[in-house]
Amino acid sequence: MSEHQTLLQDIQQAIRNVPDFPKPGIQFKDITPVLADARLFAGCVDLITHGIKPGDVDFVVGIDARGFIFAAAVALKLKAGFVPVRKKGKLPYSTHEESYDLEYGSNTVAIHTDAVHQGSRVLLVDDLLATGGTAAAAVQLVGRLGADIVGVSFVIELAFLKGRAKLPGLPISALVTY
Ligand code: AMP
Repeated sequence: MSEHQTLLQDIQQAIRNVPDFPKPGIQFKDITPVLADARLFAGCVDLITHGIKPGDVDFVVGIDARGFIFAAAVALKLKAGFVPVRKKGKLPYSTHEESYDLEYGSNTVAIHTDAVHQGSRVLLVDDLLATGGTAAAAVQLVGRLGADIVGVSFVIELAFLKGRAKLPGLPISALVTY
């Protein structure tokens, strides 16, 4: 097995499945054991940035809250800026907001209006792709500022929820797929 495959397998094995969190029926993918293991955390960053050189992207946009952890590390490695997409009401300056439907109710995410610019090259990073609503809203926010999404990276994809369908035409990658 290649070093790359061994690393991916070790990341997959370290992801802890927590049944019925935060509510019955949800299989929560807990990435804290991955973060606590120096080799696996660095390995996630190496795999997410594989094939991307410093200078290829201007900003790494991370999604509140676990996405920040990976996105900030990826930004450092790529010598790019880090930009947060946060839940509504958390960003202090003027914002654009985007709402999307959840199973029950809706969520709103926001970005600072000066966070990225016309023509900026953006890599979007989150921990997990489920239904795709969150990532699609982040894509909309980046698009409203005129920036270009050059990639969307996740540590985990729950492929059976078909989140990719909400991100048409974008280069999507995930390290571990369920
Ligand atoms: P979605 O908008 O449905 O793609 O949900 C994605 C967001 O919800 C990500 O930011 C994840 O952190 C979180 N999330 C959704 N489902 C799970 C899950 N089963 N385990 C861990 N996090 C999840």
